[in-house]
Amino acid sequence: MVEQRRILEEIAACDKLLIGIGEEWKKEAVPDIQNLYEKIDKLIKEKDYFIITTVTDGEILKSSLEPGRITAPCGNVTWRQCSKSCTKNIWEPGEVADDICPYCKAPMTGNTIEAENYIEEGYLPQWNAYTGWLAGTLNKNLLILELGVGFGTPTVIRWPFEKTVSVNRKSRMYRIHGTFAQLPEEIKERAEGILENSSEFFRYL
Ligand SMILES: [Zn+2]
Repeated sequence: MVEQRRILEEIAACDKLLIGIGEEWKKEAVPDIQNLYEKIDKLIKEKDYFIITTVTDGEILKSSLEPGRITAPCGNVTWRQCSKSCTKNIWEPGEVADDICPYCKAPMTGNTIEAENYIEEGYLPQWNAYTGWLAGTLNKNLLILELGVGFGTPTVIRWPFEKTVSVNRKSRMYRIHGTFAQLPEEIKERAEGILENSSEFFRYL
């Protein structure tokens, strides 16, 4: 398909590549999501890229994509935190016996925005890496691929991406979503909406 071919050409040509991943990439919606992450990795591994995802299932960190180039500000359900937030500690899967907080004995919960008291220390180091990387894209030939990001948490990817496109005159964005591919008028010159499910779109890339 024409759009797929154009995106492949633009990936090859760009200096910087920013990818936003949203709810169309949840494992519960796409059971073979690892195949798609591996496909992305093959396409972009030579590029200077950064990925920001709102998906919290932790699947992306099991892929061969570089963890140093990924930020998941909504958290990761496989990382555990105290449900009472008695400590800011965050544990990796299996580190704590019985999923019980070793300090206060409260049950553990996923370190995500769904937690009653989300411990943000889990994502902040990679968030800082992301903002630093993003600052370095100004006036660079930046390609933005926004994949399946709706309006669940628009302040994380959707709105900031629109701002980035409007500020960087050398940028170009594709917003691919099965339902919400619309674009604000101000950025239409440099952005294109593709009304297709983004994981399916990538499957046939
Ligand atoms: Zn605790």
